[in-house]
Amino acid sequence: MKILFVTSEVHPLLKTGGLADVSASLPAALQGLGEDVRLLIPGYSQVLDKLESKRTVATFGVFSGQPEVRLLSAKMPQTGVPVYVLDAPLYFCRVAGPYQYELGGDWPDNAMRFGMLSKVAAMLGSASSPIGWQADIVHCNDWQSGLAPAYLQLTQAAHAKSVMTIHNMAFQGNFDSNWLKPLDLPQSCFDMHGVEFHGQLSFLKAGLHYADRIVTVSPTYAREIQTTEMGYGLQGLLAVRNGDVSGILNGIDEDEWDPATDPHLTAHYDVGDLAPKAEGKRALQQRLGLEVNAQSPLLGVVSRLTYQKGLDMLLECLPKLLDGGAQLVVLGSGEADLEKRYLQLAERYPGRVSVTVRFDEALSHQIMAGADIFLMPSRFEPCGLNQMYGMRYGTPPVVRRTGGLADSVADASLPDGTGFVFDEADAAMLYRVIESAIGSYRDKKQFERIQLNGMRRDVGWRSSAQQYRDLYRMIV
Ligand code: ADP
Repeated sequence: MKILFVTSEVHPLLKTGGLADVSASLPAALQGLGEDVRLLIPGYSQVLDKLESKRTVATFGVFSGQPEVRLLSAKMPQTGVPVYVLDAPLYFCRVAGPYQYELGGDWPDNAMRFGMLSKVAAMLGSASSPIGWQADIVHCNDWQSGLAPAYLQLTQAAHAKSVMTIHNMAFQGNFDSNWLKPLDLPQSCFDMHGVEFHGQLSFLKAGLHYADRIVTVSPTYAREIQTTEMGYGLQGLLAVRNGDVSGILNGIDEDEWDPATDPHLTAHYDVGDLAPKAEGKRALQQRLGLEVNAQSPLLGVVSRLTYQKGLDMLLECLPKLLDGGAQLVVLGSGEADLEKRYLQLAERYPGRVSVTVRFDEALSHQIMAGADIFLMPSRFEPCGLNQMYGMRYGTPPVVRRTGGLADSVADASLPDGTGFVFDEADAAMLYRVIESAIGSYRDKKQFERIQLNGMRRDVGWRSSAQQYRDLYRMIV
């Protein structure tokens, strides 16, 4: 099977969140199963800088009135997965983020930028593919490639089947209907049974309507998005398509995230010997200016700082926990108000709280290894990867029972417990569960059982990649 995996970010070329990790590790796992899988990504400056040995495989027009684009071909750095880069400098070579400019606003031409990505994906999946390779499956990810299934269905030529994976329903890519024309979409598809959503052109809705199959990144989230509370207005469409929706839990890259070999760590450890983890904690405390104290429970957060992640709730419980002797390390960026409040907390608790507001891959690995307990109290979480990294690094996570957190973390009260799970999105409940995690931490034997359960848990891609392959086979 020839599979085109379309994504707007991929580690280690460009990453803002979990989508980049999945876009690196799932195609590699599919390649490991013997499939011909290739990536399609936008040619951001960072991507062009980091990718070596690129060659031009085609130059062609995408939309009328727009300059021609180039398609470059290369291999992903660590995995060797083939990657096509959509080289359209006018749209992708920009300073600042892939979706937003520096002050945090969306690029005003995002519809054109990702409409173009979607259109090129559809071209590579149709009989008129400009490169002599035609995908059997176009696998789209989130709204940025959501128009591809629409372009595929609207083309007259023989074309690929499409799969739409929802990594986060909260991001929908809704734009003014004036974009229909520049994006070569016929007025007839601007309909409730098409790309229209509350009077706007919705990329995600288009994907959900036109794709042959819809996948989301955990079985629990697949059920949750069919409810009014979590369906963001698309629950009706998902209910109609219920038979085509499935949940496949994300895995993680077990080589990239392995405390026994992680190049970002100085002290390595595994299930046979956890002792060097204490050295990672000491190094982290020292590096971040925290009191070097082996006994203080060190709580870790690596996250986008957003309401979704429940980090405002966490702020409410922290003073009591810190006064009780805990320490906190936070790495993340996001909503200005949350960034400010966490930085203020660090000022109020020198030596006990460290807050780093930036993206730092190495530090994120060091926190996974050096913290004692990882905090992820998300209000909703389609899958979440950090709780799996935490488990793999012997840093049991505190999570809310929602989405992929519910599917991947077993509560400490169970014999195979790997973390600490609470139900209500409520600060008092969160406080109670963190207190109970700290209580376990103080009972070395009990805590080690939870750590080892987590480290032994299968969080790799094997089973999930097979589920994706089975799905592709079924629709092809
Ligand atoms: P989401 O995709 O919703 O942001 P996930 O838990 O699925 O959440 O994935 C987040 C990914 O981004 C993880 O690999 C996490 O380590 C990483 N990450 C988030 N914020 C930062 C940061 N400030 N620095 C480094 N890595 C980060």
